[in-house]
Amino acid sequence: TMDYGPAPEADGEARAWLKRHEATFGHFIAGKFAAPASGKHLTTIEPATGKTLARIAQGIAADVEAAVGAARSAQSSWAKLGGHGRARHLYALARMLQRHARLFAVLEAIDNGKPIRETRDLDVPLAARHFLYHAGWAQLQEREFVDHVPVGVVGQIIPWNFPLLMLAWKIAPALATGNTVVLKPAEFTSLTALLFAELAAEAGLPPGVLNVVTGDGATGALLVENPGVDKIAFTGSTEVGRLIRQSTAGSGKSLTLELGGKSPFIVFDDADLDGAVEGVVDAIWFNQGQVCCAGSRLLLQEGIAETFRKRLIRRMETLRVGPPLDKAIDMGAVVAPVQLERIKALVETGVKEGAEKYQAPGPIPAEGCFYPPTLLWNVHPSSTVAIEEIFGPVLVAMTFRTPDEAVMLANNTRYGLAASVWSETIGLALDIAPKLQAGVVWVNATNLFDASVGFGGYRESGFGREGGREGLYEYLKPKAWSGRKARAKVPPPSPAAPA
Ligand code: NAD
Repeated sequence: TMDYGPAPEADGEARAWLKRHEATFGHFIAGKFAAPASGKHLTTIEPATGKTLARIAQGIAADVEAAVGAARSAQSSWAKLGGHGRARHLYALARMLQRHARLFAVLEAIDNGKPIRETRDLDVPLAARHFLYHAGWAQLQEREFVDHVPVGVVGQIIPWNFPLLMLAWKIAPALATGNTVVLKPAEFTSLTALLFAELAAEAGLPPGVLNVVTGDGATGALLVENPGVDKIAFTGSTEVGRLIRQSTAGSGKSLTLELGGKSPFIVFDDADLDGAVEGVVDAIWFNQGQVCCAGSRLLLQEGIAETFRKRLIRRMETLRVGPPLDKAIDMGAVVAPVQLERIKALVETGVKEGAEKYQAPGPIPAEGCFYPPTLLWNVHPSSTVAIEEIFGPVLVAMTFRTPDEAVMLANNTRYGLAASVWSETIGLALDIAPKLQAGVVWVNATNLFDASVGFGGYRESGFGREGGREGLYEYLKPKAWSGRKARAKVPPPSPAAPA
């Protein structure tokens, strides 16, 4: 019998918002929508159906200049507002997200293809949490960062896998510390950024503090090259990160890069296997595996490898792939046809190179960019699929004998974003964790994020941290003060003292 689960989330409000804009959007500059200078738009599709969803502006140099100019004009008064003044705006942005949580969750699910359950329970609340957390820091700024000033105008470029959450990760710390922003969302998923900018203006954010310029990679490159930008913060592929690093070299712009990953998920013989199986589901099938820190390399100790394989396959049989607005699904659609083709090609390569392929047997919608949860078993560490980031719902599995071998295999990657270690022997887990070359190591857990914990990579996963106290320094620069402040602390000479 088919169990249809709860009714799909109604999408009326999101469709009404699109309709109000005739599904055609300009950039958002100086507090309002602005028609693209080129007059050109890109078409975006709804990944679950393949149907056209909206037209977004293709930004050219004139648009980027207008947005950077608006950000520049707004910056000094935004900085002068002080930490408490800015905190009021950040709290207002968090409340705005909470008030419109359902609209954001539905629009994100439609635009990206990810399950409504995830946008509703994770993307939107975590984005709101990020603004609340940084509002708190803004209030402490004059006390805690007295020797620092804002960097100025920040260009921020984000990917399509967590459109709204990446927006929050980027703009909350930048705005809290007194910078103004030009944000370039990913061309597949610009809608929640445009909605956010529109509602932020309604919530009283001063014009020019947040500007959104849409378009493809060429627009991003123009933002990177614009001389009016003081800093670039980028999240995306390692390839584009490398181009941006080259293009900003010698320009005086500061730079942070959050790039790709191929994170190990290590299971020792003594692990809680059922817990670890659930961990794998979250590590690689959350967000269709389009997660930079996805636990995409499963490293199993030999003694439990076969048992683990059987339990994992049994669990895969229960996973449901379906339309994003169905609350009962575990996986939605991949973001775009080009990504789907890339995933398919990599899986074929994996099989050609000797892997055994298992796929979740559940039904998959015929239309749209759907791909089943996939396990590649018996993968050789030198196989393409063990090395390349697939950025899809594909797990590759390998075995190891000893803890040393696990560490060696885990670190055998050019990336270093995250790692997950599963063992009931805490001594073993805590011995392994610091040996793993990754920005974050989870023990008996995976995909834990919090605004208060800095997130970022080692090696080709990039540099810089987002979140936490350390994340704020990425948007501040040290300032040498005159001696006045120090002198003021010295008590004035007592009149009674001898001359
Ligand atoms: P991408 O690098 O193709 O695109 C990211 C953004 O950069 C998009 O907005 C795109 O338009 C823009 N862009 C493309 N070419 C550009 C150029 N030459 N100059 C400036 N901007 C340009 O990446 P993607 O396919 O959108 O995202 C997937 C990648 O992002 C994966 O590798 C993933 O691991 C990574 N990612 C990393 C993190 C992290 O925090 N480390 C988070 C999410 C995604």
